[in-house]
Amino acid sequence: MMSAALPDTMRAMVLPRPGEPLRLERRPLPQPGAGQLLLKVEACGVCRTDLHLVDGELPEPRLPIIPGHEIVGRVVAQGPAVTGFAAGQRVGVPWLGWTCGRCRFCTGGRENLCDAARFTGYQIDGGYADYTVADARFCFPLAAGAALEQAPLLCAGLIGYRALRLAGDTRRVGIYGFGAAAHIVAQVLRHQQRPFYAFTRPGDRASQDFARHLGAAWVGDAGQPPPERLDAALIFAPAGALVPAALRHVDKGGCVVCAGIHMSDIPAFPYADLWGERMIRSVANLTRQDGIDFLDLAPRVPVRTAVTAFRLEDANLALDALRRGELQGAAVLEMG
Ligand SMILES: [Zn+2]
Ligand SMILES: [Zn+2]
Repeated sequence: MMSAALPDTMRAMVLPRPGEPLRLERRPLPQPGAGQLLLKVEACGVCRTDLHLVDGELPEPRLPIIPGHEIVGRVVAQGPAVTGFAAGQRVGVPWLGWTCGRCRFCTGGRENLCDAARFTGYQIDGGYADYTVADARFCFPLAAGAALEQAPLLCAGLIGYRALRLAGDTRRVGIYGFGAAAHIVAQVLRHQQRPFYAFTRPGDRASQDFARHLGAAWVGDAGQPPPERLDAALIFAPAGALVPAALRHVDKGGCVVCAGIHMSDIPAFPYADLWGERMIRSVANLTRQDGIDFLDLAPRVPVRTAVTAFRLEDANLALDALRRGELQGAAVLEMG
């Protein structure tokens, strides 16, 4: 099933162990096993989760690992027993890379919580490379469009979408941390004519201008009170102190949703702030149904992602820029 035109080797940015920079390596081209697609990677988003991985804040990564779980690629070969994909088709690969299909979470519509789940760019080599293999059952067909701009939909978009969905039936939505996920969910909220309130790091005028440009009803520093009570708050920044801060601005019955995979400790707060059936919850990655639903919705909004492109070999620069909060929107690696 391999095309004669494919090279024998590829470039990959590899994490040898947490705390070290990624290393550019030449690797043999991976072979698609049963049920897998071989993809020529066109673009791969750089997610905050990648930063947590590189910084050693996620337990037990498979090492060495090729990070990257916002992959846009084209099908160049298929392993045995793949159905429903065509050569040359463009697909997206998300964080959820494999589930057991049998545990109570998998059979109960919550496969994102599967006890045995494996994740792209964490336990499965990801998209910081010229090619990758992925389980076809976890790949999403993508609409036409620029790969660079589609990549952030695969995690930032999906986590924002799931966070919003799990916030419940809400109107006024606060957004803490105005990065890649926030700038996508903001467009969905605007499309749905729900006002959103953007909270940024104190004095981060660039992010505040960006939020205003995307239609925020109000923008301010994370410590400032919004002009009205919120029905829900979505927290995309990895700062636990934001949880009680957001809770204070959420109305009765409202929800604070923590959407990151890692967060610093949450400080103590008075029970009175939680009283009134307020809720705090986390949101863990995605189910395939979230992917299908969001990728159907995104072109209808339409979501336009703001991206800063980096070359594959500059992945460390992209991670540094993300760490320093220098980017408006998303960083994306573009394979040349
Ligand atoms: Zn399972
Ligand atoms: Zn991610």
